[in-house]
Amino acid sequence: MCGIVGYLGATNASDVLLTGLKRLEYRGYDSAGLATIHDGQLHVRRAVGPVDQLQESLTKSPVRGEIGIGHTRWATHGQPSEQNAHPHMDASGRIALVHNGVIENHSSIRNFLADEGIQFHSQTDTECLVQLIGFFYGRSGDLRESLELALQEVRGTFGIALVCSDHPETLFSARRGSPLLVGITAEGYVIASDPHAVVAHTSDVTYLEDDEVAVLSPAGLEATTIHSVAVEKRIEVLDLSLADVGLSGHANYMEKEIREQPESLREMMRGRLDVTNGRIVLGGLTEIERDLAHFQRVLLFGCGTAWHAALIGGYLFETLAGIPTTVQYASELRYRNPLIEENTLAVAMSQSGETADTLAALREVKLKGATCLGIVNTVGSSIALETDAGVYLHVGPEIGVASTKAFTAQVAVLTMMACDLGRRRRLSPEQTANVVHELATMPEKIAEALETEKQIQSLVADLSQHDNWLYLGRGVNFPVALEGALKLKEISYIHAEGLPAAEMKHGPIALIDKGMPVVVIAVQDHTYEKVLSNIEEVRSRKGRVIAIATQGDTQIGEVADEVIFVPPTIPALSPLVTTIPLQWLAYHTALHRGCNVDKPRNLAKSVTVE
Ligand code: GLU
Repeated sequence: MCGIVGYLGATNASDVLLTGLKRLEYRGYDSAGLATIHDGQLHVRRAVGPVDQLQESLTKSPVRGEIGIGHTRWATHGQPSEQNAHPHMDASGRIALVHNGVIENHSSIRNFLADEGIQFHSQTDTECLVQLIGFFYGRSGDLRESLELALQEVRGTFGIALVCSDHPETLFSARRGSPLLVGITAEGYVIASDPHAVVAHTSDVTYLEDDEVAVLSPAGLEATTIHSVAVEKRIEVLDLSLADVGLSGHANYMEKEIREQPESLREMMRGRLDVTNGRIVLGGLTEIERDLAHFQRVLLFGCGTAWHAALIGGYLFETLAGIPTTVQYASELRYRNPLIEENTLAVAMSQSGETADTLAALREVKLKGATCLGIVNTVGSSIALETDAGVYLHVGPEIGVASTKAFTAQVAVLTMMACDLGRRRRLSPEQTANVVHELATMPEKIAEALETEKQIQSLVADLSQHDNWLYLGRGVNFPVALEGALKLKEISYIHAEGLPAAEMKHGPIALIDKGMPVVVIAVQDHTYEKVLSNIEEVRSRKGRVIAIATQGDTQIGEVADEVIFVPPTIPALSPLVTTIPLQWLAYHTALHRGCNVDKPRNLAKSVTVE
C-alpha cells in the first residue's frame, strides 16, 4: 500500500513530488512527507493526514532542490503520526528513505542497531532499514554497496526511494514485492509505485523487478540486482493518458467509475465477443488453449471484492462449464496446505495485480503444479507476470478505493471464461451464442440500471439513520449481496452483512427489528418464489425491505417496501445488473453521512502487505 515517488530533474522537486503524491493518495493517506536536497543539505517536511496537510506545511515553509523523494503512508507499524511519517533518516541525518511494504525482521535489526548505540525516532519498520543502510555506510563510505548489503539482510517487502546529501545528484531505488517503475523524462527521472504519478511527465518507463536496484543520475540509469549483477532494462511505452487518471468533471473517482461501467465493459469485451459466430475469443488464453478442454477442477481465489467476483465465477464455472470449482480467500489459501490435483486450473483475481495475499497464494498453488491464470487490471503487474496466461480487465485505472468497475469487469471476464470452457465441454453452439448475445447487451442494460440513481437518492436520508443492515440474495446473487454489504461498510461505516437469503432464518433473523433495512435481490430466476417467502419473513418482523427486482415484476410491490427495478437478463448474467443499484445505495448513503467515498478511513487501494 502507500505511494512513493522520487524525482531527479531540472525543476523544483517539491512541486513534482506533491502532484505525484496527490495522484498516489488513493494508495494510503494517513500521513505524507517529502525530502529534497538543496545546497548539499537534506530538507524534510512531514505532516499527519492527507497530502493537503503536507502542502500546507510546504506553503508555510517551502523547500528547494531539484532532487527529492515523497511518500503517502498507510501505516503498518506505528500509528499515523508526524514522527512515524516518511521519509525516515539514518543516524547521521544524511540519508532519507521512503518505503512501501513491511520489513518483517525489523525487531532483530532494531535490537542489533540499538546495541551499536543507534537511537530510533519512530516506531516504524522502515526506520530500521534506513538506519541499517546508514550503519553500513558509516563503515564503508560506499552508499550503493551499503544499500545492497542492507537489502540482502532484510526480510519482507519493499519498494524504496532514497536520497543522500553526499550524493546530491543521485536517486536510489529498489524493490521486492512492492511495485516500482522508473519514468525517463527529457531532463531526468520520475520514479513511483504506480504509473499515475509518472504519466504527466513521460510515457517512457521501465519496471523494476524483485531484488533489483536502480541508481539514477545525470550519468544515466544503472540497474543491478541487490547482489551487484548488472541488469539490462527494457524501456516500455506507458498505455495511460492523463485523462485516464483525472476526474473529468466528476465529483469524485467512485462516481466517475460507477458511471463508466457501460463504457468500460464495452471496452473490455471489444474483440473478445464474437457476436456473429456466437463465440468467445480470449486472446490471453491462447497459450493454454489446448488444455482448456481437459481441466478437471478450477480453483478461484482473491481477496475482498475480487473474492466476491470469484464466488460468482464459481457458480458460473459449475453451471455453464460443468467443472467442479472451489473458491477460496487468497489470504487463507496458502495456510491450509491446499491439495492441488492434476489438471487443476487456478485463477488469481486482483484488480491491481499486486495484492500481496493473492500473490503469495498464487506462488503456493504454482509450486504445487496448478496451471495458473491471472485476471487483473494493471498491465505488467506482478500477478500478470507470474501466471501462465491471463485475461486483462482493461477498464482503465480504478482509483476509488471501493472497487466498482473492476468488479463488474471481473464478473464479466469470468462469465466469458465459463462460457468458453463450457463450449469446449457441454454447451451447445446455441446455448453459447445465447450467452454471447446477452453479454453484448450488457453495456446498455447497465446504463439502464444506472438510472436507478435518482430513486436511490430519495431513499438514503431515511435509510442512513440505521446502523445495521442486511443484504440477502440466493444462488449467483448471494455474492452480489456480499458485495453490496461490503461496499456499504467500506465507505459509509454502517455495519452490514450479506447472507444467502435462506440462511437468515438460521440465526441472523434475530437481528431484525422495526425499520431495519434489508436489501433483497429478488430477480425473476428459479429462486424467485423462495426469495418472496424470505421477504415475508422479514416483513413479519417489521424489517424494511428494499427489493432489487426485474422490470415488469408486478408481484414484488405487494411484499416489499421499496422496489428498485433492473432490466431483465438471463440468470447467469443478473449479477452485472443487480450490482449497480447496490453501488449507488452505498455511494449515496456514504455521501449523505458526510463520508469521503474515495478515501474511506483505514483503507487503501492495492493491498501490498499480507
Ligand atoms: N511499513 C511502513 C510503515 O508502516 C510502510 C507502510 C506503507 O507501505 O505505507 O510506515
